Amino acid sequence: MFLLAAENVTKSYYKKNLQIPVLKGVNFGVCEGEFVSIVGQSGSGKSTLLHLLGTLDKPDNGIIRFDGNRIDNLLAKRRDTLRNRSIGFVFQFYHLLPELTVLENVLSPLMIRHSVLGYWFSRKHYHAKTQHLLEQVGLQHRLKHKPSELSGGEMQRTAIARALVMEPKILLADEPTGNLDAVSAQEVIALLRHLCTQNRLSVVMVTHDSNIAAVADRSVKMIDGQIF
Ligand code: ADP
Ligand code: MG
Repeated sequence: MFLLAAENVTKSYYKKNLQIPVLKGVNFGVCEGEFVSIVGQSGSGKSTLLHLLGTLDKPDNGIIRFDGNRIDNLLAKRRDTLRNRSIGFVFQFYHLLPELTVLENVLSPLMIRHSVLGYWFSRKHYHAKTQHLLEQVGLQHRLKHKPSELSGGEMQRTAIARALVMEPKILLADEPTGNLDAVSAQEVIALLRHLCTQNRLSVVMVTHDSNIAAVADRSVKMIDGQIF
């Protein structure tokens, strides 16, 4: 069974009265501990599918399931909880908070999840956990740095650590190497591969680069709003 799946999903955007069909009946799934890449040209609908899988947006038709349960129609609060606890996101442009250090950026989902008091009581545990994660992604020497003091690869590895701090079951990565030089891209891909193999983390990675996609267990193509 799939951990996360889209069943017969359609999605259109509207500009004025003009309908722009983007997803045209997508069936897609990822198993627990599986690394799947979605390859396709710009504009084919990859990001749209990833947003629907991660409940950042809703399909027009069709169903999104997590662990067998329908999640596309959850009430906002339950959906936000599910997303916060079970789904990690990584984007092309990192989206780190510039005023915060590396350590604070990675801690930020824990701060959002817990009350001030709850956070304060557990802060030593959270700091230790965050430092351990930053060691795993090779950034133990950058804890106090601000994002502007990091390379692209370091920023993306910080974003990956942040995505993992809530111990999600699945990571959704949208062109995670799209803004990186070849060496940094390989490091980030090797890290994702390692996390999947060692921690049984499921990964769905969108890319337009077939060399990057090849690291996955399985690769599917998105062409004009359909998966092949
Ligand atoms: P990809 O990630 O494969 O490049 P996207 O899923 O971002 O593709 O976009 C697919 C199509 O949907 C593109 O033609 C894009 O212009 C259009 N699109 C994406 N988001 C919106 C939006 N919010 N409003 C209108 N059109 C959009
Ligand atoms: Mg995209």
